[in-house]
Amino acid sequence: MLPAVSYGGPPTLGKPIFADFRRANETVLAYCAAMKIRFTLCAAMLLLAPRAGAEPGATRVARWAGDAQGAFVLMFDDSWPSHFQVAAPELAKRGLTATFYINPGKGEYLKFRGEWESNVWKQGQAYGVHTLTHKGVKDAADAAREIGECARIIRGIVPGTQNKLVSYARPGVGKGAWNITDAEESAVLAKCQLINRPPFTGHGAVYHLKTAAEMLALADQASANSGMEYLVIHGVERLKPHWSYQDFWALKQTIFLPLLDGLKERRDRGALWIADHIAVHQYERERDTATVQVRAATAQQIAVTLHSKTAPQLYDQPLTLITTVPAAWPKCRVTQGTNQLPCAVAGGVVKYPALPNGPPVTLVPEN
Ligand SMILES: [Zn+2]
Repeated sequence: MLPAVSYGGPPTLGKPIFADFRRANETVLAYCAAMKIRFTLCAAMLLLAPRAGAEPGATRVARWAGDAQGAFVLMFDDSWPSHFQVAAPELAKRGLTATFYINPGKGEYLKFRGEWESNVWKQGQAYGVHTLTHKGVKDAADAAREIGECARIIRGIVPGTQNKLVSYARPGVGKGAWNITDAEESAVLAKCQLINRPPFTGHGAVYHLKTAAEMLALADQASANSGMEYLVIHGVERLKPHWSYQDFWALKQTIFLPLLDGLKERRDRGALWIADHIAVHQYERERDTATVQVRAATAQQIAVTLHSKTAPQLYDQPLTLITTVPAAWPKCRVTQGTNQLPCAVAGGVVKYPALPNGPPVTLVPEN
């Protein structure tokens, strides 16, 4: 059990001007108490609490896209047929994105190559490198081919991935089949602009996590910690067509479908941002080195610039900014370069996407 926490707040919190800020803080404290979160985390969240009493122009970077409480990544390994037969269509029905770690030199992939080349990615799904054959690597040169070829094939299939980051997952192979050092692997990843995903340990569906409740508890942990969590799935149960066998570690549909429904429900109420691994990685890196400068804040216009220390070519994920606007603005139009977006004003603030290291962002009122 964690110790109880009491937080009096600074004396100025009693003044009416801070009433909204105080309410926001009380909400955070109640939330922290309910979730039994440590004091240090509560303190960090207090700093991030929406400041309804802030001056027009005051802007913060949301911790996750859309100001969701946490981030969650669904990962599917080994390019099993049930991925395009069951998983991708069920994800698409719910508007969910996952990352599929493919092996373009493996039998199951080659047999259904057309599905991977012209179907799955068109449903909004991302591909990750899981090596060409999933058979392991003999030496550094073999690793460069197994990893590099898989990356080249993905970038040849999915438009917009050339010279962009792609996710990587080392395949689990038999004893003695992985014959490079971690340093040699890292060198190949750097050369191919690949980002290593977090480890399988503790995150495997069927293997580590058996029920939808266990998997959704992992997702809820991301929201409670304002962090990122992920689940690695292999096969998904096929009910039709009636194949004589199921894919490796096939996740029962009676678990898989409630899991997706639960994730969608959490996404819809703002508890989770569900995205592919690279989008989440980019967001984290950009956010952690982001600075916002308010260039102008008048009754007619707010202008801000957003900088990040990340390289713009590889880190091009929009961050979510939250800006306080004058009370008289009913709605707002946000412009960055050639991108224009009408945005709702809610609680005196506007939430909008902005590209770091891009042109200045301007906000103007709209009726
Ligand atoms: Zn694998």
